[in-house]
Amino acid sequence: MLTYDYRCKKCGHEFALLQSINDKPRRACPKCRGRVERLITGGGNFILKGNGFYSTDYRSPEYKKAVEQEKKSVEPAKSKPAEKKKKTVAEAAG
Ligand SMILES: [Zn+2]
Repeated sequence: MLTYDYRCKKCGHEFALLQSINDKPRRACPKCRGRVERLITGGGNFILKGNGFYSTDYRSPEYKKAVEQEKKSVEPAKSKPAEKKKKTVAEAAG
């Protein structure tokens, strides 16, 4: 269950509703039956966006762990010690 914040566009009444993800968003103001809009609050672990919601908590411990493992698995591709090229200074002598 999640708490959704709504605000009435008509009378400005703000209220919160406890709904499950599958519940349809409420559209009517309990006070004036006017149209309400759902407010997006940044308090949770995710932000509601357009069609759905995405986990935007990139700084979660799990994410960090994944990053660490990725770092370990990938060899540090630092520049190899450049092979010394033999200078082809030898010019054709006569
Ligand atoms: Zn209202």
